[in-house]
Amino acid sequence: FGLTKGHGAMKESLLVMKFGGTSVGGPEALENAWRVVDSAKREWRDVVVVVSAASGVTNLLLDSAFRAAAGVKPILEEAPPQLRERHVVLADRMVPDQARKAALIAEFDALVGAFEDLLRAIQVLGEATPRALDAVASLGERFSVRLFSEILKDRGLPSVALEATELILTDDQFQSAHPNMLETGQRTQERVLPHLKQGEVPVVTGFLGATAEGVTTTLGRGGSDFSAAILAVALQAAEVWIWTDVDGVMTADPRIVSDARTIPLLSYREVGELAYFGARVLHPKTIRPVIEAGIRLKVLNTFNPNHPGTELTARRQSDDRKTIQAVTAIRGQKLVTVEGRGMLGVPGVAARTFGAVASTGTSVILISQASSEQSICLAVPAESADRVVGALQRAFVIEIQNRDIDRIWASEEAVIVTVVGVGMQHTPGVAGQIFSALGKENVNVIAIAQGSSEVAISLMVKADEMERAVRAIHSLIE
Ligand code: ASP
Ligand code: MG
Repeated sequence: FGLTKGHGAMKESLLVMKFGGTSVGGPEALENAWRVVDSAKREWRDVVVVVSAASGVTNLLLDSAFRAAAGVKPILEEAPPQLRERHVVLADRMVPDQARKAALIAEFDALVGAFEDLLRAIQVLGEATPRALDAVASLGERFSVRLFSEILKDRGLPSVALEATELILTDDQFQSAHPNMLETGQRTQERVLPHLKQGEVPVVTGFLGATAEGVTTTLGRGGSDFSAAILAVALQAAEVWIWTDVDGVMTADPRIVSDARTIPLLSYREVGELAYFGARVLHPKTIRPVIEAGIRLKVLNTFNPNHPGTELTARRQSDDRKTIQAVTAIRGQKLVTVEGRGMLGVPGVAARTFGAVASTGTSVILISQASSEQSICLAVPAESADRVVGALQRAFVIEIQNRDIDRIWASEEAVIVTVVGVGMQHTPGVAGQIFSALGKENVNVIAIAQGSSEVAISLMVKADEMERAVRAIHSLIE
């Protein structure tokens, strides 16, 4: 990114660690997180910490903003004390020093005051703009940095709480802002390096940035991972460790498959597909800046800190012997089908189909076209299905009248099951294995899509057959 150098020898000794919402959401987690930072600080010369809002707090904030906009009355009386209580309890448990705790709670009260002002303004206007929502949502991380930095200091680690609004410059795409890496690099080096030189552990808000005018933005839900990546690139870190509440990236959701296990090494392409197809892994934007800068990335468990977790690798294929790495499921989908004999060979039907869907603002995650049946199928979130069908029926009124299109309809609620692994599509027999495993379990496959990414195969199955499908496929992983 053409950053200014001059930080020579330090480069190899900088570690960025990000703690997610559950990792800073309760006393046990905070205790573990503190221990993790303390031991990292013994091994690394520089440690920079990025924290999310405590679990549930961002949802509470956004939900309150929506209710204030809708004029739901008791929200101003209820939400601010709830937000305060959530953090005061943590301060009480984690910061024994009375003076320190009192100062911390005074800072919490200033944030609670800001929250009340924002809610009142939203209530008066009757509208929560994206800009206002970012101002509200930013409060969770601002509580977290103050709390975590205070815990470190209380236990003898010099630390400073920093707001990423001073570091990460973004555009004004509120709720999903895009960072300017060059300017962010300069600001971050200028403002963070002096603290590192003094031996402090900076604790930085995840999720946040600011426009050139200094207006607070957010990087999108789950964006703290992305913050860690941005700061790691800006500071030329050697490694980024993402601390979460599972043992790294798993072969399947352990709530569905009891013998799901950690994948020790996973390629960036595979993790990208997994994130896209619903695995709770990493914010998808995290990966690219980190690969491009050659920074090592690991996913670890705050609640099981000695577990080696998952390492992400830039190698094309993470494991030559393994074709299938993981299986995921996205619930709550419906398959919308446009069907008709007269569609055969009519140019532009697909384009008009997707145009009509796009006009409803729905994102399509799976498409399949069957030439023999003369149909186009697309998976959409169940709650959008009626809207999508309506838009398609309007777009094809004439074709429906002429009977070129017979039917446009949505299926019952279904699940997209995705099998991820590099090389799968080129390894003869893997697809066959998958389908015979499903056949043995009597799972009926409603639709199939094989992404051009060569890393994933997706299938749609009925909601009540999902668990059987996932388990059957999981049993194929060596
Ligand atoms: N607190 C933000 C969210 O809940 C960002 C994050 O957790 O990564 O989306
Ligand atoms: Mg989170």
